[in-house]
Amino acid sequence: STIIEFKDVIKEYRAGDHVLRAMDNVNFTIEEGEFVVILGPSGAGKSTLLNLLGGLDSTTSGQIIVNGEHVESFNDNELTRYRARNVGFIFQFYNLIPNLTALENVELMKDIVDVNIDGEAVLDSVGLKDHSNQFPAQLSGGEQQRVSIARAVAKQPAMLLCDEPTGALDSKTGVLILNLLQDMSNSKDTTVVIVTHNAILAEAADKVIRIKNGQIESIAINENPKKVS
Ligand code: ADP
Ligand code: ADP
Repeated sequence: STIIEFKDVIKEYRAGDHVLRAMDNVNFTIEEGEFVVILGPSGAGKSTLLNLLGGLDSTTSGQIIVNGEHVESFNDNELTRYRARNVGFIFQFYNLIPNLTALENVELMKDIVDVNIDGEAVLDSVGLKDHSNQFPAQLSGGEQQRVSIARAVAKQPAMLLCDEPTGALDSKTGVLILNLLQDMSNSKDTTVVIVTHNAILAEAADKVIRIKNGQIESIAINENPKKVS
């Protein structure tokens, strides 16, 4: 069934009297458990789309319906609750808390969402079994990104929203992470939305949405998504 729907979504940024339309009448749907890649060149509006979907920014007009709820109508408290319950973010900036260990960073959400998190197991799944007691500054860039992925995955969100998730990862780790995301969408009904300019990721997707200049260029269903390896 449909979990995400964008209906005539417009997003404009204002700087003084200048208006920039970053999202121009965008319509699409995403099904529960789908692995979706949103592809487009720099400046196309990918981060804008992800921020709107994740409840980090508000639309200028149009509707964003997630699990039957109108995200565009949420107030700040409702948005905070929506993000905590439904959304796991994997962003380019890792946002790890420097004075907490990798394990503590991953288990951070335990008290916020009512989920039993086995941080050791999740760190193991991203190849960081032996790093759980290290602080972010003691980890490489790729390792820090994997901790942030582990943290997003740990609370078992309905949606995982990923901004260029393999950006800071060497190819071997990139494959590991993509496999993990694919498995989550296949077996756990987690809906995965990745925005990227990297067309290679599209081969792994169930659905590829291409955007350009804030508009949908095409939407393609992939009958035989490639298992990344
Ligand atoms: P992408 O992620 O595809 O590179 P973005 O969503 O970041 O694209 O940006 C889309 C357009 O909106 C770009 O022209 C960008 O300069 C502009 N933009 C993004 N964020 C802001 C902002 N906070 N204020 C003004 N313009 C912005
Ligand atoms: P990369 O080439 O991926 O950026 P680094 O060369 O930064 O990796 O780190 C290699 C290894 O050294 C990593 O496993 C990391 O955990 C460890 N490491 C890096 N910096 C520190 C540090 N300050 N203290 C302890 N271990 C560190």
